[in-house]
Amino acid sequence: MSEAVYDVVIVGSGPGGYVAAVRAGQLGMRTAIVEAGPMGGVCLNVGCIPTKALLHSADLLDEVKEGKRFGVMVEGVSFDLAGAMKHKNAVVKASSDGVNFLMKKNKIEVVNGWATLTGRGQVHVKLNAGGERTLQAKHILVATGAQPRPFPGVPFDHTRVLSSTDALQLPAVPQSFMSIGAGAIGIEFASMYRAFGAEVTVVEALPRIVPNEDEEVSAELVKAFQRRGIKTMAGARVEGIDTSGEHIVVNVTGTDGKTTAITVEKLLVAIGILPNTKDIGLEAAGVTLDQRGFITTDGYMRAADGIYAVGDCVAATPWLAHKASAEGILAIEHLAGLHVTPIDYGKIAACTYCSPEIASVGLTEAKAKEQGYEVKVGKFPFSANGKARVLGQNRFGFIKIVADKQYDEILGVHMIGPRVTEMISEGGLALTHEATGESMLQTIHAHPTLYEAIGEAAHALVHGAAIHI
Ligand code: NAD
Repeated sequence: MSEAVYDVVIVGSGPGGYVAAVRAGQLGMRTAIVEAGPMGGVCLNVGCIPTKALLHSADLLDEVKEGKRFGVMVEGVSFDLAGAMKHKNAVVKASSDGVNFLMKKNKIEVVNGWATLTGRGQVHVKLNAGGERTLQAKHILVATGAQPRPFPGVPFDHTRVLSSTDALQLPAVPQSFMSIGAGAIGIEFASMYRAFGAEVTVVEALPRIVPNEDEEVSAELVKAFQRRGIKTMAGARVEGIDTSGEHIVVNVTGTDGKTTAITVEKLLVAIGILPNTKDIGLEAAGVTLDQRGFITTDGYMRAADGIYAVGDCVAATPWLAHKASAEGILAIEHLAGLHVTPIDYGKIAACTYCSPEIASVGLTEAKAKEQGYEVKVGKFPFSANGKARVLGQNRFGFIKIVADKQYDEILGVHMIGPRVTEMISEGGLALTHEATGESMLQTIHAHPTLYEAIGEAAHALVHGAAIHI
């Protein structure tokens, strides 16, 4: 019996692929999604969702330890990593089951197996259950994601030299923990394992930690981490990693030119990602990869005739789950012939769930200046925010708004502090709607809230000073 021709076959079920599948189902397309592993990709299984579940345990632990300050007496607080892992695993399972439910609801055929592009409109699948199938498709959407990049010459051994996936399933809290790399992954695990009780060091090659964030945010995080006892080394060079002994020895040269041998029990390598684009027939199908192996696409996510690509496997950044989902929807709507507009990659919010949290959208002050804007800045610290004081989280953090001096247009919003990952939506909305400082100021912010700090920063931006400081 000959196979049906699908309107679209999607390869990969992460937030790029499965969201695209849902949109295709909504538009009435005959859709199949091929997945070799569990549904939900890195994000749901070994990325965003499980890290945030463990980070919630970390936050709760920190908060309970401070209970006395709020009159909440909890005797003999201790931490059970196995319990935190159990919660994390349950959240992952519920999320992955949720994706399966969405596939059923939207009449998407799930094909469990390994996909290879074998010709125009043709996807060969080596089925997990044994055997094979060839799917015929009018369009193919590649959403194969990425994997952690190992340190050159030091492969992950998965027990001591860890990828982010390994760091999510340690059997016990290590006595000492180091992250090479101070991007989102390194910083989140550093924050988590410090809360769990490890001695933590973060080593970053660039001159500052969280180097994509505004400079003032990096500086504030250094202060907050210092207080929590997390050692940060920025502008540092890893000269060598010796794994021959019982513990790992990392030789790090600091900004002072001195090389120090640091001994650690567990070493996380969080220096970026490698795209999953090898040996799946992409080049033969006419897809172009850049030097690093990422798929190049046009603004509508077209990679070649009849082939779209989205998410971490494509060259466009930032490599974030919500960007992948937005690209997935765009690709499906474009191939369905709907009127769509390309994504504005400069207006995608980024969130890092360390303690204190970081969130940002748009241009940093330095980038805005680099782009030739005459910049004005409005800032407000959480130390002067009533709700932050109520929560006992007013020690660190601020909201910073960067705007164009001439037209008052908001160019970027940068936050560090309590629950800012939930507040950045206002910044995103401001950028999408080309808001001005004046219009942000006219948005009256409820009291008492943490996000009042945004209104205060807008006041400082427009009038040169906030009210409550
Ligand atoms: P990243 O690229 O964000 O950060 C890696 C860091 O490692 C960079 O700051 C880089 O300068 C540094 N580095 C590279 N080589 C080094 C070396 N030899 N020595 C010291 N430092 C070195 O990558 P990541 O943190 O591994 O995360 C991977 C991807 O996953 C990123 O795209 C990230 O945005 C995404 N992610 C996002 C979140 C989130 O949004 N909360 C969480 C986890 C991961």
